Amino acid sequence: MSTDTPRGSKTEEYWRRQRQLFPKFFWSEETHLADIVISGAKGSLLFDVEGKRYIDLTSQWATNNVGNVHPEVVKAAIEGLERYGFLIHFLHPHVPMYDLAERLVDVAPSRRLKRVLYELSGTGAVEGAVKHAVGVKRRPLVLSFIGQYHGLSFGTVNLGSLDAAERAYFESFQGGVVHVPYPFTYRRPRGMTEEEWGDFALGYIEDYVLEYLAPPDRIAAVLVEPIACEAGVWIPPDNFLPGLKKLCEEHGWFLIDDEVETGFGRSGAMWAIQHWDVEPDMVTIGKGLSGGILPIAAVLGTDEALGTEAIAAGTTFGGHPAACMAATACLEVIQREGLVARSARLGEEALRRMKEWPDRFSVVGDVRGRGLLLAVEFVKDRETKEPDPAFTRRAFFNCVRRGVVPLYGSGDWFLRIEPPLTIEDEFLNQALETMEKAIEASASEE
Ligand code: PMP
Repeated sequence: MSTDTPRGSKTEEYWRRQRQLFPKFFWSEETHLADIVISGAKGSLLFDVEGKRYIDLTSQWATNNVGNVHPEVVKAAIEGLERYGFLIHFLHPHVPMYDLAERLVDVAPSRRLKRVLYELSGTGAVEGAVKHAVGVKRRPLVLSFIGQYHGLSFGTVNLGSLDAAERAYFESFQGGVVHVPYPFTYRRPRGMTEEEWGDFALGYIEDYVLEYLAPPDRIAAVLVEPIACEAGVWIPPDNFLPGLKKLCEEHGWFLIDDEVETGFGRSGAMWAIQHWDVEPDMVTIGKGLSGGILPIAAVLGTDEALGTEAIAAGTTFGGHPAACMAATACLEVIQREGLVARSARLGEEALRRMKEWPDRFSVVGDVRGRGLLLAVEFVKDRETKEPDPAFTRRAFFNCVRRGVVPLYGSGDWFLRIEPPLTIEDEFLNQALETMEKAIEASASEE
């Protein structure tokens, strides 16, 4: 049985062009992600060139938190374009960059975060934060966690370590990164509690890294995703992030909180790190910042991090005036419509339903999440927890065929549910029901 969605004639014609025009990653049998070609999007729906409708459980990789094509955000972006076109913000400071920065400082996860560095992408934000950490502390090393994702540039692919294949040929650019274990809760060693697993990860830093690899005064920062999204929505044990903060305080390291995917209410809090009451020194944000309408990203930082040394960081289009206006409008929508609380409520309801899946489907190993940041993990065997990427791929295409698009990356053994925070209750329920049918159908295809 093919895993592909049967393609209509229009789609087939686009796919012929797809194979001719774009790099192999986007069309090979092993790596392409969905067979549909989109002709429009609205709210929590996508429409394809065959006239079929899909419920979007991706929010376009967590960018469109306020729904696809939010009219207020689009309007602000158009106004910005008409008024300013493009201005390079470090040459010609423009009004919208102040408005957005003040709004971001206002919602930041710590009163100490008072400064904003504009960037264009999550990747750029992470690199800007790390540059500041290394430049301000004048220390060469950064700690980051195995399995986390921070981007695909030479710098960020090596700061992260989601997938060895992604880093192949670029390993020599790793430079000053020391990777340490992350406590993936469902995949903890047998017999360990979650708390002990969290302690182990922290103890590894203290007992191994600081003793054998890097003295503490050579480390500038710890870079961490508070919930490890790309690796499969991993919620760390409750002692992990507070313990990390304590280490940072003890040794004078910056805590860089990568909220590129988790930010703006995705996890049911404005920032995921707030679930653990931890105050970072820098936060990297992007994706949902402008509701996906125009590319913009940023670093929020303390006076020490962003205000003491003149570090050259940034990029031509970072802080585009229209993107700043779109982002300000997007924050206004999130706050006015209470979307953070909505994400928490809908996520809780969805997770309650998903908790029944391991009983219903033997292939479901685990379900987990916070807010509208949810995942279902598929295993070949509950006892060994051996991942089942082949089943996952089948389940994904069975969802797409039935009109629902979960978030999936080739090779994954989990499907993620990250719809717009505005998704209608009935669409979310319909989508979960469809996923249940797709899992059932995929199990009977074996
Ligand atoms: N950090 C995290 C946690 C991310 O999830 C991502 C993107 N998935 C990035 C950084 C990189 O962001 P971008 O793709 O916008 O460069």
